[in-house]
Amino acid sequence: MIPMVDLKEQYHQIKEEIDRGVLEVLEKTQFILGPNVSSFEEEAAAYLGVKHAVACASGTDALHLALLAAGIKAGDEVITSPFTFIATAEAICYVGGKPVFVDIDPQTFNIDPAKIEAAITPKTRAIMPVHLFGQPADMAAIEAICKKHNLLLIEDCAQSFGAAINGRMTGAIGSMGCFSFFPSKNLGCYGDGGMVSAASAELAEQLRMLRNHGCKVRYHHDIIGYNSRLDEIQAVILRVKLKRIKTYNEERRRVAHLYSRLLAGSAVIPPVEDGKGVHVYHQYTVLTSSRDQIMKALGDKGIASAVYYPIPLHRQNVFAADYRGVTLPVTDDVSARCMSLPIYPEMTNGQVEEVVGVIKSAV
Ligand SMILES: *Cc1c(COP(=O)(O)O)cnc(C)c1O
Repeated sequence: MIPMVDLKEQYHQIKEEIDRGVLEVLEKTQFILGPNVSSFEEEAAAYLGVKHAVACASGTDALHLALLAAGIKAGDEVITSPFTFIATAEAICYVGGKPVFVDIDPQTFNIDPAKIEAAITPKTRAIMPVHLFGQPADMAAIEAICKKHNLLLIEDCAQSFGAAINGRMTGAIGSMGCFSFFPSKNLGCYGDGGMVSAASAELAEQLRMLRNHGCKVRYHHDIIGYNSRLDEIQAVILRVKLKRIKTYNEERRRVAHLYSRLLAGSAVIPPVEDGKGVHVYHQYTVLTSSRDQIMKALGDKGIASAVYYPIPLHRQNVFAADYRGVTLPVTDDVSARCMSLPIYPEMTNGQVEEVVGVIKSAV
């Protein structure tokens, strides 16, 4: 049995520290926001090299709150990737904006900067790149486009905690970075959680108000806000895991590099590192024209695999009507041929060899 991610193995390795932290929170009975949340925000900001970090209830909320803080509103267009989890585009819709999908790079699966300018209109307000599967998007090129056209840059870092490019962590490049701490993410808690990193004090203050009913001082409400707070139990867990995130990401890279070495010359094409940044392999995603066959063979041996993402966003029912006639050929091709293999820090080299062995004998 090899799962996509083994959260139990990781828990057992850090159980003592996690259990102690959680029990302390239970004993203290301060559950919402609180000292662990503040400390986690400071520690995460320091790790990422950003001035401010504001924790919230989920990655989806992080995107939503960031777009609100940025002032994105009805009628505004936000350029993003069609090859991502639905939340990226949902958040744009929550504020009344329109997601504008730009095709991806065939090697990195990230938004293709060379195709962005053609999608810019007078209504475009922001670009929201997704650092998909843990590989940073081409931020130098995207930043240059933002500067030239006076657009905001908001990063979807849900899959890229700890990834870096040109010496900067993802989330420290745009005006804001949106993180998810969903349990299976590189830095995950034991429930839902999220965070927005912010370059300016003004944005951070706005985000703090938005996450907590629009108030700076309790019961003094200045704007319409939301209930989107992180709780102390999740924060204490995140503090334990943040101390280890560098090792966790290095271990993911070990697993990925072994896969890539063993899969060279096989019926699957390993993912490409673009050489510009540090890929943290939230997913290890290959391309193959024998996807069903390989997934069946793996499943028969008790090895998990998954397709992220089988239907790109411009083809989802919810968006299809708006995107009739739009062709995004690279995205369509990649979503037809991609599949993700098990990857997690605790995965052993022997397990990687086992997965590769099954793939090689299947095709
Ligand atoms: C997981 C994810 C989100 C949403 O995060 P939640 O914490 O599940 O709300 C957003 N964008 C991307 C790219 C993700 O992978």
